[in-house]
Amino acid sequence: MLKDLLKLVRLAEQPGPLKEFVQVDTLTEIKYRNEVYPIVSFTIGSKNPEHPVLFITGGVHGLERIGAQLAWSLLKTTLDRLTWDILLQELFTKIRLVFIPLVNPVGYEHYTRSNGNGVDLMRNSPVKAIEKTPFLLGGQRYSSRLPWYQGQIDVLEEENKVLYQKFFQSCGQSKCVVSVDFHSGFGVKDRLWFPYSYTAQPFHYFPEMYAFARLFEQTHPYHIYKIEPQSEGYLLNGDIWDYIFLDFKNKNPNSVYLPLTLEMGSWVWVKKNPLQVFSRHGIFNPMKEHRMKRTYRRHHLLYDFLLKSLYSHPAWSDLDTKSRNHNTVAATERWYDNK
Ligand SMILES: [Zn+2]
Repeated sequence: MLKDLLKLVRLAEQPGPLKEFVQVDTLTEIKYRNEVYPIVSFTIGSKNPEHPVLFITGGVHGLERIGAQLAWSLLKTTLDRLTWDILLQELFTKIRLVFIPLVNPVGYEHYTRSNGNGVDLMRNSPVKAIEKTPFLLGGQRYSSRLPWYQGQIDVLEEENKVLYQKFFQSCGQSKCVVSVDFHSGFGVKDRLWFPYSYTAQPFHYFPEMYAFARLFEQTHPYHIYKIEPQSEGYLLNGDIWDYIFLDFKNKNPNSVYLPLTLEMGSWVWVKKNPLQVFSRHGIFNPMKEHRMKRTYRRHHLLYDFLLKSLYSHPAWSDLDTKSRNHNTVAATERWYDNK
């Protein structure tokens, strides 16, 4: 994957139309057992700090390799299309797209969920759950040898530090932000999760989230996703997106931000190929080539919608008081009432 990523870096840096649209940054280099693993970001499109941003990340959990591969595949398509597609070039004059396809390169290369320090990056932030979390799975500080280890109290791991910095550098002044973090492993359905992880209470922009979800459902009535709060799955401590969201909202009370997680349900892959439970890829990834290709294909519709819904974001982000009140009632009924 690192080799493939570096190919995209070279592609983006070639003289030609791409150079005008794409900026590549090495955010840091993680040192692990005498090797060096870069974390690379691609920033595409508008340089206006207030413009809407789509922020895509993959490979936070190294073992869930399909997440990084999907991010890579979407990025590659985008770069290829940008060389000839005038409509897409036009789109990127008004929005910014940031990719960090592989947030945890050490975990990816070594088939571990955690980073090189044994820390689960998704549980490493200072945010504490205010309701009961599942034992261990909700995050633990007993030992890095056990799964879901959160790391030291109030110390962000290097991978999260650069993720946080890149986020605020590219989205910090934006009026409208959607982030999508690619994961796999939970359940049989593909889920789109929105906050919070630290509480089952509604998050601040759930009326906008409702408008966004409705728009997607009206545009693609036969879509495959289950759209629900993360807390429907389970609650956890230290979610890095809760942390980034709460900070963003404090600093930008007049902007709208939807932090989403795409959780690709992998149990269906296991059902079709039970032997993969014993493989190094484990239960988190499709094994067969055609199944991987299908995974790449099945999310293009969502990706296309995300780009266009940011370009036309007032359709869901600029709600007047009446629609906001209406959505509050409807969204509570849909997502929170049966608690
Ligand atoms: Zn994950």
